[in-house]
Amino acid sequence: MANVKQKILFKNKEVSTVNSSDGTSRSLEKTGRPNRQKEKINGVKDRAQDFRKSVIDSLEEDIRDFLINEAELHTYDDLTKVNPVTPSTVLKCLQARYSAKVFYTHAGCTLVALNPFQPVPHLYSLDVMKEYHSAPQPQEFKPHIFIVAEEAYRNVQGQVEPINQSLVVSGESGAGKTWTSRCLMKYYATVAASSQKCQDTVEKIERRVLGSNPLMEAFGNACTLRNSNSSRFGKYIQLQLNGSQLLVGASVQTYLLEKTRVAFQTPNERNFHIFYQMMKGATEKQRLEWMLPLEQDFAWLPHAEKTLEEDCLQETVEAMINLGIDESKRTQIFRILAGLLQLGNVDFSPASEEAQTCDLDERSKGFLQKTADLLHVPLDELESCLTVRTLHAGKQNVLKPCSQSECGVRRDCLAKAIYARLFEWLVRFINNSMCADSSMWCNFIGLLDVYGFECFLLNNLEQLCINYANEKLQQHFVAHYLKAQQEEYVTEGLQWSFIRYQDNQGCLDLIEGSPSSIFSLLNEECRLNRASDAKQFCVRLQKELSDNASISWDKFSKQPHFTVAHYAGKVSYQIEGMMEKNKDPVPPELISLLQNSQDSLLHSLFADGDRESEGLRRHSKVVTVVSKFRNSLESLMKILHSTTPHYTRCIKPNPDCRPLTFKREEVIAQLEACGIVETINISAAGFPIRIPYGSFLQRYGLITNTRLTAQINQMYSPEMSNQTVLGSAVEDVLNVVLKRCATHSILSPDDNINML
Ligand code: ATP
Ligand code: MG
Repeated sequence: MANVKQKILFKNKEVSTVNSSDGTSRSLEKTGRPNRQKEKINGVKDRAQDFRKSVIDSLEEDIRDFLINEAELHTYDDLTKVNPVTPSTVLKCLQARYSAKVFYTHAGCTLVALNPFQPVPHLYSLDVMKEYHSAPQPQEFKPHIFIVAEEAYRNVQGQVEPINQSLVVSGESGAGKTWTSRCLMKYYATVAASSQKCQDTVEKIERRVLGSNPLMEAFGNACTLRNSNSSRFGKYIQLQLNGSQLLVGASVQTYLLEKTRVAFQTPNERNFHIFYQMMKGATEKQRLEWMLPLEQDFAWLPHAEKTLEEDCLQETVEAMINLGIDESKRTQIFRILAGLLQLGNVDFSPASEEAQTCDLDERSKGFLQKTADLLHVPLDELESCLTVRTLHAGKQNVLKPCSQSECGVRRDCLAKAIYARLFEWLVRFINNSMCADSSMWCNFIGLLDVYGFECFLLNNLEQLCINYANEKLQQHFVAHYLKAQQEEYVTEGLQWSFIRYQDNQGCLDLIEGSPSSIFSLLNEECRLNRASDAKQFCVRLQKELSDNASISWDKFSKQPHFTVAHYAGKVSYQIEGMMEKNKDPVPPELISLLQNSQDSLLHSLFADGDRESEGLRRHSKVVTVVSKFRNSLESLMKILHSTTPHYTRCIKPNPDCRPLTFKREEVIAQLEACGIVETINISAAGFPIRIPYGSFLQRYGLITNTRLTAQINQMYSPEMSNQTVLGSAVEDVLNVVLKRCATHSILSPDDNINML
């Protein structure tokens, strides 16, 4: 019975609109008393009859759900209707829907989006957007990302004051986060378009906001083993709305670009799309200008499988134009990028007996010359920066030739520093171009698209940061929904037994806590400024952190490592190289080389020197990669906490990105990782309906008994008529109704309802 009760509660929102359509209701109706005194029905009784009918209709649906029929599984729009809720029934339902080409399903407060891995244009057309936008109750339509979008859009106005909204899209690599975010942006650019109002200038805003996507993806996305268009950075974009809820601007915040990819690509992976776009899309003139002959191979441009994104140079250039990046800036950007490709072909040979520094063969000299030309720096200075280190001994500078491997590290470091700063510049430019003056907008809808949980054969600092970000988001979800929801039930005085869920606080303490955590120990190691030793660091971690249940070590592994039990699974991180990555030093010689570049853009990118190392000197504190990342995530969390969140869980149905292929093991692992079953359980057992006090009394006052009405009046004064109540009051009313349903004496117009 409990389940039936809760579901009626859930469907309560449809109570006055649901219509009976098949035979089950008739058989139930027979159990009601004959309608003998119809002529006496007055207005009060009419309402009672309506209510009765809707209860029967809801019951009818529930009974149908109860006798779960596999053939109809695909019709379950909300996973809370699956009964019982187990990983296996949820999986069955999603599989059935996927086979029926239904890609969205509600899971209580979240939306599950299965990736079709094939275009489904009719699902996202302009007409469909308009349909969801203009519907009085979009949630009555088929589950869709547009329902989430519309709900956030309507919530933004708030009942009392505007409430900022956040749409959090999560899922593993290739699950569809970026695709979904793009789709949401298109939705808002359409339904909140201000162009009709103010013509010209504002029309550009939508174009700019949408244009920021291809541009940022060209520079920040790459083809990986998991996704041919994988985002290698995190992104939170705020769409700024004015008092009339029109889109007037946007701002974007990015997180931790995977800059190592510029100079190193895992086998069968690729560099950032922009380089391939240039190689493929350049005109003859550009090819000459960029020194990119068609037949030239570049070490940093591995030929993995061809992707569609490489055909998009024109789209990228158009986005640049829309955002206001003029031709001379574009020329500078492309020349710098071409310079990096040349740099990647420079190899160093070990120093010969007589020569002090590493040698460059003729081929490498040629590439270095082109690099110097494209970056507008003197060739000899470029060469010496890469091959000689300047040591400060007192007041004297001592020059020390670098070993072959050190030269390689410096070359890569130069490329990474330039690319990262160029990306930052681009993001700043995009913001300047899209961001509305603060007087023009009053609230925002934020879209969060961050890299999903990662677990490779070899994992290092990048994966630790990415997985840490996912832990933070999971914690936000747990705190906001699972914990808060249940605590609210208790406050409302509902009888409630807590549903257990995985709390990841222990894991977060391990990573970022104080006084001792992986991050604090890593930072301490960097502060000591000594040659880092992976084995020693591993011993230190074992000594200081072994009390935390979320960390372990494999006794048989020869490599210094540690394993973290994340909420989404265990990941082993290698320690070798981690401390160096955390310091992320850029040799000062490289910085001053670029500061003296004749290219005004490159010069400006480094005009303020090495911000980190200067900060370090000033505050005698190391600004490491992890501390910077943690700070930026803290700010993000603050923003998220100040908004109303909406969660979408993207699921990747198979690892090979094959259309319409559903691999059960893959999906179940993702469902477990994001705690979907717990979410459904809490939603299904809970009271997702919050009815404003005023409407509640208006709607159900008739059938509430005197005691309950008095109680409600005591709890809520009439001024609070917009206040939401009330799992418990709704429950009381429905209990009465259900008691009668259960004994076949469903409310009849003859009932003296006030006596219930
Ligand atoms: P990453 O974490 O690697 O960035 P992601 O979750 O952002 O991954 P996407 O790039 O959004 O993944 O999606 C991967 C691919 O899946 C897309 O390039 C697209 O081909 C396909 N895809 C995703 N969602 C849809 C959809 N709703 N309809 C059609 N195709 C989709
Ligand atoms: Mg992505």
